[in-house]
Amino acid sequence: MRKLSVYFAVLLVLVGLLAFSTVNFAKRGQNDREEPTQQPVATASSVQTEPAREASATAQPQSPTAKLAAAIPTAAPTATPTATSTVMALETATDTDTEAYLADEAAVVAPALGANGLRLPLPVFGSGEHMVAIDPGHGGIDEGTYPYNPDGALDYHESEVNLQIALRLKDILVANGIRVFLVRDGDYEINPNWLDVNGDGVQDIGDESQARIDLINASGAELMLSIHQNARTLGDGSLDIEGNGSTTYYCDARPFSDQSFRLAELVHQQVLEELASIGYTSYDQGILDDLNVDDYEPKLHFVALGPQSDRIARPSQMPGVIDEPLFATNVEESVLLGQPEVWDTLAQAYANAIIAYLDELDAR
Ligand SMILES: [Zn+2]
Repeated sequence: MRKLSVYFAVLLVLVGLLAFSTVNFAKRGQNDREEPTQQPVATASSVQTEPAREASATAQPQSPTAKLAAAIPTAAPTATPTATSTVMALETATDTDTEAYLADEAAVVAPALGANGLRLPLPVFGSGEHMVAIDPGHGGIDEGTYPYNPDGALDYHESEVNLQIALRLKDILVANGIRVFLVRDGDYEINPNWLDVNGDGVQDIGDESQARIDLINASGAELMLSIHQNARTLGDGSLDIEGNGSTTYYCDARPFSDQSFRLAELVHQQVLEELASIGYTSYDQGILDDLNVDDYEPKLHFVALGPQSDRIARPSQMPGVIDEPLFATNVEESVLLGQPEVWDTLAQAYANAIIAYLDELDAR
């Protein structure tokens, strides 16, 4: 009998392990759905988690939002400026602004569907010798990751923040004589009917990413910037509200990887510098090859950056980066992401980087 109960206990453990791994697998599938570019929402087991935790504990002893409150004019906080009350004051002060911008965005009419069932491209903005593509990550039914939202005061999604930054970036570039191809200018998908665009027999978020790359390739843009925000969950699926910082991704397996890396360097440096200029010292998560985004196996490229594969039918044809300047799930950075001033700052950072990159190109 004792032997039998040992067998039973072992069986229980095995069933438990199977259930646990199934949950984790399902979680990953869900994350992939949320992130068209296969941008992972890292788990506690991720190699990126520990540096982020260290950063919030050591690299940022002062409250970043307190510093930002001093740098950015907001409605005067009435309470004592403790860290908590400052966060609340920022939320209250910017919520109306944010709502107004998001209402404008929702009013945009999406382009009609073409004969292929996908959105027709937007007209190219501006005039000039150079042309760049901007991809505001997510949109429509795909809202991206959720921000940390303790009291419901900041009711926005990653898709909306990405778009607001992209629209501002477009304006700055056009003002500097650079043509811009914008993948979307409102809250919509390029592949609203979930057609199997990459022909892999599966209708999923990878098809939206392929549809975007197809548009960008057809535009003739010389470089591509895809704008996202980062997110992190713990092993139990809850939000890791301490994970923070700025990350820039490029792909090291392309004929133009050197150029992508140079663009990534400029983007990354400018994001850190411009955020610092408004009083926020962002933790430097670094420039990462897109195969080293997480510790999942098999290693997968981002659809927007990687070479041809089962998942990537028609790869991007120009140097490009995916940038994730802040964490939407972070207790402090989610507040920043709701602020038009921060959207302006990030747009300026991207514009500085792109202009510097094109200047280097012209000087060759
Ligand atoms: Zn995203």
